[in-house]
Amino acid sequence: MPLFSVPKEVAVGTAMLGVAFATGMLAGKKYPSLGFGTPKSSKSIIGKSSPLWQYILDHSLREHPILKKLRLLTADHPWSKMMVSCDQAQLMANLVKLIKAKKVIEIGVFTGYNTLNMALVLPDNGRVIACDINEDYVKIGKPLWKEAGVEHKIDLRIKPAIQTLDELLASGEAESFDFAFIDADKESCNEYYEKCLRLIKKGGIIAIDNVLWGGKVLKPRKDDLATQSIHHLNEKLLRDARVNISMLPMGDGVTLAFKL
Ligand code: SAM
Ligand code: CA
Repeated sequence: MPLFSVPKEVAVGTAMLGVAFATGMLAGKKYPSLGFGTPKSSKSIIGKSSPLWQYILDHSLREHPILKKLRLLTADHPWSKMMVSCDQAQLMANLVKLIKAKKVIEIGVFTGYNTLNMALVLPDNGRVIACDINEDYVKIGKPLWKEAGVEHKIDLRIKPAIQTLDELLASGEAESFDFAFIDADKESCNEYYEKCLRLIKKGGIIAIDNVLWGGKVLKPRKDDLATQSIHHLNEKLLRDARVNISMLPMGDGVTLAFKL
């Protein structure tokens, strides 16, 4: 039984909005693209082809030109849907700036869009520990880290992220990080969360991506380990007294956990 139920009028309003999009009622005119390209993602709360999505970008996105270059470069990749959504990346950059972060962790780099995004807002002596197992993906974005002049802030570790997190803990870096973004293999999300929680300072933030997993969390199948894993972490976070949380319907859902 859910702890809270959605007020009827909100549920109806949201459903009607959905119908309106489906029937194109709100799409009276096609929004002109302001050159953002077409951000691709198979999973998002607001469809990436909806006029409202374009409106959000037109009225909020302030993307660094080299970040935009990397996003458009990644859009041609067969796995482009793995890239974080640009509005979500902007929120994370704003949070990193707000808490004056110096040390951040990215678990799952792909072509490095969010790695670059965070490196751009860190101070010159700031550091992103960037974890991935696939160097071929990272190679795509690396030259742009250099072009943006932030390569020196990025410490890339190509090995399983669990290993990197354990090494950081073993070298005495517990409670020294300000921000972490968890966005790799979903089966390990609980382990990533627990290790990040040890690495993050009080007042630091952990952002966990894909917490709605394209809606699959509503009815997790027993044989679907990724969905099960995300759903269990969502349930645990609701009652986790070590953090305050917000679950945002942005991109494919992102939970922000604020360490107490
Ligand atoms: N955060 C990225 C961005 O801003 O665009 C997107 C990350 S993508 C969704 C997931 C990445 O996790 C892939 O690049 C994949 O190679 C990486 N990955 C998968 N398993 C991993 C593991 N065990 N350790 C580290 N990285 C892993
Ligand atoms: Ca993701």
